Amino acid sequence: MNPQPDFASLGLAPALLRAVSETGYRTPTPIQQQAIPLVLTGRDLLAAAQTGTGKTAGFTLPILQRLSASPCPQLAPGRPRCLILTPTRELASQVHESVQAYGKHLSLASLVMFGGVNINPQYQALRRRLDILVATPGRLLDHADQKTVDLSGIEILVLDEADRMLDMGFIRDIRKILARVPKKRQTLLFSATFSDEIRELANGLLHDPGCVEVARRNTASELVAQSVYMIAQKQKRELLVHLIRHHDWRQALVFTRTKHGANKLSEYLGKHGIGAAAIHGNKSQSARTRALAEFKSGAIPILVATDIAARGLDIDQLPQVVNFELPNVPEDYVHRIGRTGRRGLSGQAVSLVDGEESKLLADIERLLKRRIERAEPENFSPSPPSPDTAEPRRSEPRSPRGAPSQPRSSHGRAPRDKSNRPAGSAPAHPPRRDAAPRPAPHRGDSSAPRANARPRAALFSGKPAGDKG
Ligand code: AMP
Repeated sequence: MNPQPDFASLGLAPALLRAVSETGYRTPTPIQQQAIPLVLTGRDLLAAAQTGTGKTAGFTLPILQRLSASPCPQLAPGRPRCLILTPTRELASQVHESVQAYGKHLSLASLVMFGGVNINPQYQALRRRLDILVATPGRLLDHADQKTVDLSGIEILVLDEADRMLDMGFIRDIRKILARVPKKRQTLLFSATFSDEIRELANGLLHDPGCVEVARRNTASELVAQSVYMIAQKQKRELLVHLIRHHDWRQALVFTRTKHGANKLSEYLGKHGIGAAAIHGNKSQSARTRALAEFKSGAIPILVATDIAARGLDIDQLPQVVNFELPNVPEDYVHRIGRTGRRGLSGQAVSLVDGEESKLLADIERLLKRRIERAEPENFSPSPPSPDTAEPRRSEPRSPRGAPSQPRSSHGRAPRDKSNRPAGSAPAHPPRRDAAPRPAPHRGDSSAPRANARPRAALFSGKPAGDKG
C-alpha cells in the first residue's frame, strides 16, 4: 500500500504522467487528488480552491486526457472543444502555460485570448484548428459577436476564480457566453468563496456536481510571518524605502489601494534608486506583461500592484509582501499575503498601517482570529515633512467588492485598454546596500490557529458579490 498517492494512481495517461514528471511534480496536491479522478469520469465539479493550491493542474490534466481520448480529426477552425474562462489576463496566460506544459506530449491545439492586445493575431489563430481556448470574458465575446469564434462545439467549460469574475462585474458577459455554449457539456466551477451569487450561478450551471474543498492556503499559515508597522500615511513611503534597504529585500510585491497610488509609489521608489514597476488595470497589457516578467526574473526588485492586478499571480518563491495600505475587505488581505509562503516556503507579510486604518486592521485580525505582531522599525528617523513627502493623499476610492473595478462601458463590460503605453517602470537598480542585510525578526506565532482551522461556514460565507450586472 502506498499511503502517498502519486499521479499514476489518479488514472492519468502515460503522456500526461511524463509531462507532469518533467514539470518536477512528484505528489499530487489535495485538490489534484480529489478533482482529477472526478473530472476524468465526466462529472461536473464544484471546487472551493484558490490560486496556489495546484487547482490549475487539477482541472487541466483530466481535461487534456478526456479530449485526447476522443480526438476530433475534422475539428472546424475556431471551434474549440474546451473553454476555460478566467477573470484576468495574467491568470489566463498562466493557465494557458499550464495547458501547454501538461499537454506537450499530446497533439491538442490551444490558444489564449484576452483584451488589451492587438486582436489581429487572434483572428489568425482562430482560422486554425483549436481544442482548448483560455479566455477572459470580454475579448471572447468580441470574437463571438464577430463570429470569429464558434462556441457551439464546447464539450467542457471551466469557470476559474468564478468569485472574482463576479466581483469584477463579468456576470452579464458570463451569461451571454453561457447562452452560446451547448447545454450538454461538462462544467467545472472553481471559486475561493461561496457567496449567494456564486451558489446561484453554480445551481444554474452544474448538474449533479461532485464537490471538492481544500483548505484555504493562506493566512495564519505559520509559513507567512506577519507584522504591522504603525506609521502615519505621510511617512509610509520613507519607511518602505528604509525597510527595503535595511532588510535588503530583493523581491517584494507591494500593494496599494489605488492605481494612482501604485504609480506614485513606483515613481517614488525609482527616484530613490530602487527599481520598481506598477501593475494595475489602467496599464496596457504589454506594460503589465513586461513589468511582471522583469519582476519574476529579478530585474526589478519591487512590483507595486493593486488587488485586481495581483489576483491570480503565481510568482515562484516570492519572499515578501507589503501592504502599503490595508485593503478595505479583510479577505483581500488574505489573498494578498497568500502571494507568499507558497508550497512550503516561508514568506513575510508586512503592513504599513496609519491610525486611520485601525478599524481595517481590527477587521483583519478578527478574520484571522489572531493579533498580528506590531514591529518597530530599527534605525528609522523620518525626515520632517517636505513638499515631496507631504503630498496630500489623492482620493481615488477603491471599488467596493462587488462593484466593477473599472469604469463600465454602456454595454456593461470594462472598457478595453487599447493603449500601448510604456511600462513606466523605473530603472532597474537593485536596492542600495547601505545597510547590512539582517535577518528579519522572527514573527512566527505557533499558538495562532491555522487558517484551515477556520470553520467551514467561514470558508463558504463570502459576502454577496453585489454586482447584479
Ligand atoms: P495553481 O494553484 O494552479 O496556480 O498552482 C500553484 C503553483 O503550484 C504553480 O506554480 C504550479 O506549478 C505548482 N504546482 C501545481 N501542482 C503541483 C504539484 N503537484 N507539486 C508541486 N507544485 C505544484
